Amino acid sequence: GAAAQQATWDGTGRTADGHRVPLLANVGDAAGAAQAADRAAEGVGLFRTELAFLSAAEEPSEQRQREVYDGVLSAFAGRPVTARTLDAGADKPLPFLTLEGEPNPALGVRGLRIARVPGNGADVLERQLAGLAAAAKETGAELKVMAPMVATAEEARFFVQRCRAHGITSAGVMIEIPAAVLTAREIMAEVDFVSVGTNDLAQYLFAADRQSGPVAALNDPWQPALLRLVRLLGEASAETGVPVGVCGEAAADPLLATVLVGLGVASLSMGSGSLAAVGAALAGVTLEQCRDCAAAACAAPDPAAARAAARG
Ligand code: PEP
Ligand code: MG
Repeated sequence: GAAAQQATWDGTGRTADGHRVPLLANVGDAAGAAQAADRAAEGVGLFRTELAFLSAAEEPSEQRQREVYDGVLSAFAGRPVTARTLDAGADKPLPFLTLEGEPNPALGVRGLRIARVPGNGADVLERQLAGLAAAAKETGAELKVMAPMVATAEEARFFVQRCRAHGITSAGVMIEIPAAVLTAREIMAEVDFVSVGTNDLAQYLFAADRQSGPVAALNDPWQPALLRLVRLLGEASAETGVPVGVCGEAAADPLLATVLVGLGVASLSMGSGSLAAVGAALAGVTLEQCRDCAAAACAAPDPAAARAAARG
């Protein structure tokens, strides 16, 4: 089982029997990207663009956006960088985008939804896509762009169309709403890839605020119900050929990473401090062992039992 892990991280994610699983980094700015490159990340799986602008009272200028995008992308020239368009709202309000006075911001106009309601959100999205596309040309990074908080295939289609209009050839969406899991095939028909945000997916699956201590146990990424949603995505991915990655905190847990791979996840993105441990864990197990761990964890009655079952 995973306890046999010993191999060290050499910058190429793979299982003991050679099944490739790129290990990517979650970053928020140029300094984080540089650190991720030092730590041998194979690319960036989640560039949280909103983090660079949390303190901005107004939409950052084109020039300011380019500084930030060029700074992150230049650390990964020739390698994949998945930028997420602004995920404003809920726990990350941006003064220039977020609607005021929503009774329940986590269930309100956040993420891609901001580009679909009257106001300046659609224009902000256009300017951001233009800036990202220009940064890719300038730096030579292999740009992928994805939208946060997508619930329907129609939203995915809208987003991909906007990306294509800017010459962005790889466009995807985050899967962080249970409805998007249940319509994964329709969504996959629209996009080049999907990436699971397990933090929000758990929050919306269990109706448990991810920032609330008293309900933290419901947001445990080992919850079998959450794992079963990832399993559905793995099955849809195998059928459609559209790759599914994970970029939520779940990917940073070495044992859980092996379970995710067993569920059909093709790439893992995490805080760069976790790359070495996750890389070593994967290198210590075969794909078949990952699948066995995954089946056992999904069948478990609760998170503790899922962990124990995966340990084998
Ligand atoms: C997630 O929801 O799992 C995710 C990766 O996005 P964020 O944590 O930025 O909401
Ligand atoms: Mg999220």
